[in-house]
Amino acid sequence: MNKFQVSSNNVFGRYLVAIEDIKPGEIIFKDEAVVVGPKFQSELICLNCCKQIKSQFHCCSKCKLAPLCGTSCENTKGSHTALECETFSKLKPKLTVPMLLENLHLITVLRCILLKNQSDSNNWKRLITMESHLEKRRRTGIWKIHEKTSQVLFDLKIINEKDIESELVQKICGILDVNSFELRASDSQELLKIDSLCGVYPLAALMTHNCVSNTHLAIDNNFLMTVRASVPVEKGSPIFFNYTDVLQGTLNRREHLREGKYFECLCDRCKDYTELGLHLSSMKCLHCKNARVVMKKPAKSSQLTKSDVWLCLDCKRKCTGDEIKEILEKIITVFQQIDKSDPKSIEDFINYAAKDLNINHYIILDAKHVLAGLLRNILDRSPQQSKKMLLKKLEICKDFLPILDVLEPGLSRLKAITLYEMHIPIVQIANKEHDAKEITSVELLEKLESSEKCLKEAIRLLLFEPPSSPEGNLCKRAMDEFKLLKGAVNEARQLAKMELEDKKTIQMKRMKDKLIK
Ligand SMILES: [Zn+2]
Ligand SMILES: [Zn+2]
Ligand SMILES: [Zn+2]
Ligand SMILES: [Zn+2]
Repeated sequence: MNKFQVSSNNVFGRYLVAIEDIKPGEIIFKDEAVVVGPKFQSELICLNCCKQIKSQFHCCSKCKLAPLCGTSCENTKGSHTALECETFSKLKPKLTVPMLLENLHLITVLRCILLKNQSDSNNWKRLITMESHLEKRRRTGIWKIHEKTSQVLFDLKIINEKDIESELVQKICGILDVNSFELRASDSQELLKIDSLCGVYPLAALMTHNCVSNTHLAIDNNFLMTVRASVPVEKGSPIFFNYTDVLQGTLNRREHLREGKYFECLCDRCKDYTELGLHLSSMKCLHCKNARVVMKKPAKSSQLTKSDVWLCLDCKRKCTGDEIKEILEKIITVFQQIDKSDPKSIEDFINYAAKDLNINHYIILDAKHVLAGLLRNILDRSPQQSKKMLLKKLEICKDFLPILDVLEPGLSRLKAITLYEMHIPIVQIANKEHDAKEITSVELLEKLESSEKCLKEAIRLLLFEPPSSPEGNLCKRAMDEFKLLKGAVNEARQLAKMELEDKKTIQMKRMKDKLIK
């Protein structure tokens, strides 16, 4: 039985609502994509298996057009269906390989159109009834871009005059832009990375947005989506998904939603000028030096102006949006110019930016994120790890956790990866310090146990990831490392026990000596 139903109101339009209490980790629904294809300005992918093509591609021998990863892909069932292959064949010689490579997103539009010709038109009906925001897009920049798309499809006779009149292509492009989920190539092994693909999931598209989601989405190699509750979802509550970058500030998130999804977010996070107490957009006050200068009313645009009022929550002094804008622009320019392959320059930037920004400011978080990735690469490469770098990496992970607890409560992929990343420096620092006799065996044990706790929680969260995904692979690695760590903890426990016994013996001896005297 379904745990949800489709409901509708003036605020969200159609949306999904829980019809029973749902526990964290419980599957709410699984959804199959009706269409998967290259995104606008996509990199080259195999049109059949959706793997990245990094070097030479193989041209489908039947249609002599579709870029595939190899001959083996011609005979496997995938996205380059017989219908698509046949359609391509008919479009020759007008449609050429270079044309296709230049307009990869056309394929996704074409795949949508082909749904119409399938014997079962159910998927077409589900697709074409989705929200396209056609009127809001009319005559905007994006409309003009897709006029070209329409023209190419018309020239190829994929659509006819009547379709242009009915604005079919614009509608499909709108549906793709508003509803599609970004996907990664089916062979991608980079954590959290999004690639050149998009997919339309009719059920998942009905989840309404909230800047603090209550679901966990996972998509496997076959593009099957599993949606779970990330926190307890009460009966009657909407089922939310966060369409934006969780670590972005309110102005940028709302702008992204306004530009791409055509609505003004009024969620609790957006309405709260402290961003749930995290101050992701707050500035430092020039007078009282606290970093709680906030914009009291969310601006209608990310372009701050004179009329936007910013207020220090502590000394109550006010300043205007254009003053804030100037500071932000200066900092962003510096960030763009620094050497991002040098940890020191990123650290210097963070210290520089912290003079004007709250330490949780999204620009600082962005810099910390870059620094963490850089440190990971350096530490992975060099076996002689410097303690300073390990401490820095640990510090950054520790900074992110409380933020993620608020912004991605419950099941969180970001939190899982952060915890995994965090367990490594704890162990390495503890071992270094113990070898140098800077800490006792009891302290070593404590530290290793805290690392074990991090890793255990990381595994608990990563178990919700598809086994073949990069995060699923990380889970396997984490489980192997957990066994090793358990061994190390046991060894440390023995050492600690011996150390305590030694201590006792010495104390006893001292007491004895005292008594004799
Ligand atoms: Zn392939
Ligand atoms: Zn073909
Ligand atoms: Zn919001
Ligand atoms: Zn102040």
